[in-house]
Amino acid sequence: MPEPGYLRVADTAAALAALTRYGPSARLIAGGTDLVNLIKEGIERPDVLVDIGRLPLDTVRADGDGLWIGALTTMSAAACHPALRSGYPAVAEALELSASPQIRNAATIGGNLLQRTRCPYFRAETKLPCNKRQPGSGCAASAGHDRTLAVIGGSDACRACHPSDLAVALVALDAELTTESPRGSRTLPLARLYLLPGDAPERETVLEPDEIIVAVRVPSSPAAARSGYLKVRERASYEFALVSAAVAVETDGALIRDVRIALGGVAPRPWRLYEVERRLLGRELTEPVVREALASALDEARPLKSNGFKIELARRSTCRALLELRDRGVVRT
Ligand SMILES: Cc1cc2nc3c(=O)[nH]c(=O)nc-3n(C[C@H](O)[C@H](O)[C@H](O)COP(=O)(O)OP(=O)(O)OC[C@H]3O[C@@H](n4cnc5c(N)ncnc54)[C@H](O)[C@@H]3O)c2cc1C
Ligand code: SF4
Repeated sequence: MPEPGYLRVADTAAALAALTRYGPSARLIAGGTDLVNLIKEGIERPDVLVDIGRLPLDTVRADGDGLWIGALTTMSAAACHPALRSGYPAVAEALELSASPQIRNAATIGGNLLQRTRCPYFRAETKLPCNKRQPGSGCAASAGHDRTLAVIGGSDACRACHPSDLAVALVALDAELTTESPRGSRTLPLARLYLLPGDAPERETVLEPDEIIVAVRVPSSPAAARSGYLKVRERASYEFALVSAAVAVETDGALIRDVRIALGGVAPRPWRLYEVERRLLGRELTEPVVREALASALDEARPLKSNGFKIELARRSTCRALLELRDRGVVRT
């Protein structure tokens, strides 16, 4: 395998110029914790690596409207920022429950959102049929182990889950991305970043190859300040989510005024339960009410032979996460 060329850039303009010059076979590299593995496994074969690790996009700041996290902020720096911990605890918890301290010290917010699926067939050292890795080659997972795959939002071409914990928390809190490209800057809701696989699972986001994420903005709200992240995994640490739930609630006395719920580990993108949220509004945050609102959540799921357990697990995890928020009562710092 020929080694890719390497270019370190100092600012966003230089990164964009490099992407324009080298075209779609160039790849941005930030912390490198995912991309380097993908190159080693022969999944990514860039001609040039454009190292953006030193771009001055590594600050976190909060104002009255919300939180601004530079895309080059490391996961660990973001997770310990006081404004993030007090105003957006679901985000801090999702980051702390991700990967290992060593990886979080190197990995960045932008890179985390664009990491690729952990489907074991996609990541296999031996090349196996995989429509995401090699379009049109088939899907080895359809006749294989499907325990970790999606129960909803997939297609016959691909049922891989989205792996980022951070993305689940950010989608629950209605975060937006700001990007830069040679055509200018744009802002888009994170919920609209990820594409469902359909017939083209190799295309995972709406970003263009020459577009750089520069920041994530999370609007402030009482619900964001009273939020949490629950992650269920096969072992206690250093593991991707089997199922996860990011929840946020604002109550008015005993009644729910605002509630947000996003699931991880069930779909090719973070999955918002908008209908459950609607059913909970104006009601009391009690176990019977929450159970009733969740009873038909994911009813439209199409589980595979051994991952149907995720549906009930997702309902129970969401219920537990919401009740834990109620019992915590106050915003934590
Ligand atoms: C053993 C292990 C366990 C892990 N466990 C978890 C876990 O439990 N939960 C979890 O969420 N993650 C987990 N991860 C994934 C880890 O969090 C990601 O590898 C990391 O966040 C990627 O960030 P990075 O900066 O290293 O990205 P890179 O590897 O540098 O880049 C990843 C991708 O993002 C693109 N990119 C990076 N920055 C930008 C930008 N600003 N604009 C546009 N494109 C960009 C790159 O071109 C590349 O395609 C784990 C990883 C490992 C190796
Ligand atoms: S589920 Fe998707 S990523 Fe996994 S083998 Fe099938 S096509 Fe590839």
